[in-house]
Formats: sequence, C-alpha cells, structure tokens
Amino acid sequence: MAEQRRGARDAREPREDVRGEAGPGAPDTKDEVARAWDELVATARRTVADGLVVGTSGNVSVRVGDAVLVTPTGVPYERLAPGDVVGVGLDGRQVLGSLRPTSELPMHLAVYRATGARAVVHTHAVHATAVSTLVPELPLIHYMAGALGGAVRVAPYAAYGTEELAENMLGALADRTACLLQNHGTIAYGSSLTQAYDRTAQLEWMCRVWLTASSVPGLTPALLTREQLAEAEERLRGYGQQ
Ligand SMILES: [Zn+2]
Repeated sequence: MAEQRRGARDAREPREDVRGEAGPGAPDTKDEVARAWDELVATARRTVADGLVVGTSGNVSVRVGDAVLVTPTGVPYERLAPGDVVGVGLDGRQVLGSLRPTSELPMHLAVYRATGARAVVHTHAVHATAVSTLVPELPLIHYMAGALGGAVRVAPYAAYGTEELAENMLGALADRTACLLQNHGTIAYGSSLTQAYDRTAQLEWMCRVWLTASSVPGLTPALLTREQLAEAEERLRGYGQQ
C-alpha cells in the first residue's frame, strides 16, 4: 500500500547524520570536519580553475585528527556538497560518508604514514606530467626547488592506484615535499591545504620554465649547481614574515 505521508512528528525525529558520531579513528568534532571538508572542496576546485587538473583527474586530502578526508572517486568537484564528506583512517578503512574514496588513496595514506603531512594534493598538471616523461629529475632550472627540499625527483612508473606506485612515490619524496610521478603527474604535501597547493603550483611553474627554456633551438639553459641550490635553500628558510 501507499506509504503514509510524513507528519510533523516524523519530521522532528532524529535523522541519521552522514558525519556520524565520533568513534575510533573518527575526527574529534563535526565542526572541525565540516570546516576541513569545505576547505578541501575549495582547494580541489582551485586545481581545476587554475588548470592543474582536467575533470576529476586529480585528488586532494587533508588530515583531521586520526582521519583523512579525501575527494571521492569520479565526482566532479563542482558537484561536491557539504554532505558528501568522505573520510578514512590511516589503514584505509572508511570512517565517514558513503561515497567511494579516490582511487589514489594508497599514495595519500603513504604520505601521511611516512611524514608529518597535514594535506596532500595530487594533479596531472600538463608541464609537470610532460617533464615526468623526459628526465629522472627536474634539472635545477630555478632556486625555488629549494622550497620543495631540493632537486625534484621523478618516481618510476607504476599503475595508478597501486601500492607499488605509493612505494615509488615515497622513494622520490625522501627529504622532499613534492615529486613527479613518471607519465602521470605531481604529488605535494604540506602543513595545510594552502601549502600543499602552493607547492604543486610552484612545481608546475618550474616544469614550465624548464620546458620553455629547453625548447629554444640551438640554446641550452644554464642550470644551478647543488651548492647554489643549497645556498638558496638556506635563504628560503629565513624568507617571509618572521
Ligand atoms: Zn593521478
């Protein structure tokens, strides 16, 4: 038979909340999760708006307590709403939401397990991806490599979404906050979504500079020495508002 119409009494009944109650591995407060999710969605949208990602080809994550909030697989960022929060524990077990997490979850989790990262950004930015097919390390074209911990390495190719790719990535990330993934893209982490995003943008910009300088017929770009980079790194540590 037809369902009974909802009365005012039903409407007042408690509804299940997608964010659930804090349990083992779950973040401390709903507010903290909601704020972090909003910032994550804004960052993911920015990667598309700034041309670092086409469609749903990148992914973003942020740590909240023991949980990692992460973009879901196959959902365009403009369609992500506050109720779509997806969260997993460091073991990959889903603790928040019902949408499936990004297929690149193994890379994100590997970064959180191995470093003090609070946020991770992965893109298929065009110049960075192009460079990843040409060299095992981005040549020292600019001192901003110092802001990423040194010369940016390229992680050897492995199929997307695999533990093998996550392992290759960790090798390339040693003492760095960003690396390239061969024939795939970029990954960068930071103490915030803004920092992880900025490092991604810097890396893409440096790759673009190297490609541009390398494409002038008959000329070869000058490169920095390891010593010059080390000096720049030292200066970058004291850069900005103290
Ligand atoms: Zn990818």
